[in-house]
Amino acid sequence: MANFKTHLSVGITVSSLTALAGYDRGLGDADQMQWLFLIGTIASLLPDIDVKQSKPMRGALMLFGAGIGYLAVRTLPFQFTTLEFGVLWLLIWLVANQILQVLFIRFVVHRGIWHSLLMAVVLAVSSAITADTFFAQSTQMSWLVAGFILLGYLTHLTLDELASVDVRGNRVKRSFGTALKPISLRNWPASLFLIGWLYFLLGFAPHPAPVLAGLNTLGIPTTWVAQHWPRWSFNYWQTWGRVLGLSR
Ligand SMILES: [Zn+2]
Repeated sequence: MANFKTHLSVGITVSSLTALAGYDRGLGDADQMQWLFLIGTIASLLPDIDVKQSKPMRGALMLFGAGIGYLAVRTLPFQFTTLEFGVLWLLIWLVANQILQVLFIRFVVHRGIWHSLLMAVVLAVSSAITADTFFAQSTQMSWLVAGFILLGYLTHLTLDELASVDVRGNRVKRSFGTALKPISLRNWPASLFLIGWLYFLLGFAPHPAPVLAGLNTLGIPTTWVAQHWPRWSFNYWQTWGRVLGLSR
């Protein structure tokens, strides 16, 4: 596998060039493009979340624990002073982080489900929903966030595959084909679950018009996709966002 430094520097290069091109085409202002650059760079490190005790794994679990801690304290039906809020948040954060670490080390397999195109798409659609629901971004910006997640993630998987080919191109290491794969067949129950989860998520995604337009410019026919794109009428995420006081 390519190492952390390689992933970081290639991720920065690809994301910044794409953000610059997007800025050039007027897809967003300088501020938005900086955010997209950052998101793309983080996504290019994300697949190695499945490497035990790697930087991406520890970073992601820290962030996730912080999110859980924050939401947990916010949902408690008490009025806290800033200090109490901070202490409680920190406590729940630390406990959640420990539990997550144990679960991750126990269950996650390197180069399994996290190194697949399916996971890349699931995370991209999730990020579009997050940008739309929790950060009140426009439909186009939400899908741009998804695009940069996909870009960073695919950059990582491609680099991993390249690293498994011998420099002279004669010999192929055993890890070839374990990074850039559509789905993880070894872990088919998880893959099957992810496919169902993706269909469920698509129904909550922002309006697909920008995605369809993008596919169209690439010459990919979109009539079928437009007809079969699921839309659920009950907006689960927005309801939860309101309950937690995060969205409008
Ligand atoms: Zn990797």
